Amino acid sequence: MISMTIDGRKIAGADTYGVVNPATGAVFASAPNCSQAELENAMAAASRAFHGWQREEGPRREALTRAADIVAAHADELGRLVTQEQGKTLANSIREVNGAAGRFRYAAGLEIPTDIVHDRDELRVEVWRRPYGVVAAITPWNYPVIVAAGKIAAAVRAGNTVVLKPSPFTPLATLRLGELLQEAFPPGVINVISGGDELGKSMIKHPAVRKISFTGSTEAGKHILAAAVPDLKRTILELGGNDAAIVLDDVDPAAIAPRLFWGAFQNSGQVCSAIKRLYVHERVYKRVAEALTEFARTVRVGDGLDPASELGPVSTEPQLRRVEELVADAKASGGRIRVGGARTGSRGYFFTPTLFEELPDQARLVAEEQFGPVLPLLAFTDVDDAIERANATQYGLSGSVWSGSVARARDLASRLDCGTVWINQHLMVVPASPTAGHKWSGLGVENGAVGLLEFTQVQTLSLPRS
Ligand code: NAD
Repeated sequence: MISMTIDGRKIAGADTYGVVNPATGAVFASAPNCSQAELENAMAAASRAFHGWQREEGPRREALTRAADIVAAHADELGRLVTQEQGKTLANSIREVNGAAGRFRYAAGLEIPTDIVHDRDELRVEVWRRPYGVVAAITPWNYPVIVAAGKIAAAVRAGNTVVLKPSPFTPLATLRLGELLQEAFPPGVINVISGGDELGKSMIKHPAVRKISFTGSTEAGKHILAAAVPDLKRTILELGGNDAAIVLDDVDPAAIAPRLFWGAFQNSGQVCSAIKRLYVHERVYKRVAEALTEFARTVRVGDGLDPASELGPVSTEPQLRRVEELVADAKASGGRIRVGGARTGSRGYFFTPTLFEELPDQARLVAEEQFGPVLPLLAFTDVDDAIERANATQYGLSGSVWSGSVARARDLASRLDCGTVWINQHLMVVPASPTAGHKWSGLGVENGAVGLLEFTQVQTLSLPRS
């Protein structure tokens, strides 16, 4: 069995629970259910390790480079675990793991700046960046390995130590990552434990924690922020989204249809920044809708371990129920299904890629984050109106503008109220891209050089010039 890692040691855990493969709907492995005593051990180990780890940058860079090599060398093993517990195709899981290796390598190369902000007369003032101490990192089930890697890499590069908990639905690849990383890091620097939401709540409350890094739903994020207040724990939140893509009247529908499709349906739509509402100018609406429908019909849905599959199942049973609920509500709201609309396969949580149209903006499928393989197509006649509708949400994660003229799209990009805007693409990210959700989509920044600074606090040193 894959173990937790606490203070550099494998801990099988006194209690365990079953992990379900969404392609079969059956339990295929078990994971430790971390006890309060094991959590205490993890926090104590991270606190002890912090004293030495924060001191020197050289070993931190070396460990991160080593971590990148180790993760890349285990891409197949980790990728298989991701596919089995999360559902995405093996090719995509391996891409995720290689992306995780990239996060470690990128963090190894980042500089932590010291700024001299005053250096005249009698006084020199330097601004240093110091680590916080123990970081509690909590991750969701949609991209378990790369989200964990992003948090760990930035936290430890800055000199913090980490106690990380993956989603209870997808603990295995992250636990294995924790085991593998021990080859690169001293004991206690990276601790990985597993369990449910209650374990997450205990982590947030723990007095050893000085910084929280959370990725998950907006609802849980609000609870976490409130729970962080009594101890003033610094908190980064990467939360949900309801991304709009706006397609202008000068596009080539056939050329953009595959990119639009994968911008919405990658990982079965279970991407924080996937296209979740597609606004299309009425002049090209019919042709875009037809091209997308045609493309959706060609996509093969199946077990992610089958090389013929292009799209895996919905990842969890509760998420499948939610998708079904939103589809039923969309039908009741007068929506018309162009393609899909139902489960498929004799077992597992498969759902055919689904396109809806003729829905009002108030329909739940448009107003809420669906986080599944169902996309509403919405026509518009006036670009100003499309921007207004795109911004009429509490979310502000990302968005995209599609046009034959990049200059035209650029002008509109700044009017979208969200943290990331793509032009003629959606979901392209590199390690240097910061993620900063606006409004209910987040607090603070993760990833990139700006994200690294979030794992540091400012210390100002004032000294006489000599
Ligand atoms: P979730 O909020 O249910 O769970 C995420 C993690 O938080 C899990 O590990 C869970 O056990 C833990 N948790 C839940 N409640 C908690 C609490 N009160 N205190 C402490 N820990 C708690 O989210 P999910 O269903 O796993 O993931 C899907 C959501 O994540 C979607 O809304 C998606 O948009 C969002 N997401 C955002 C980003 C981003 O970068 N903005 C990336 C991926 C996913």
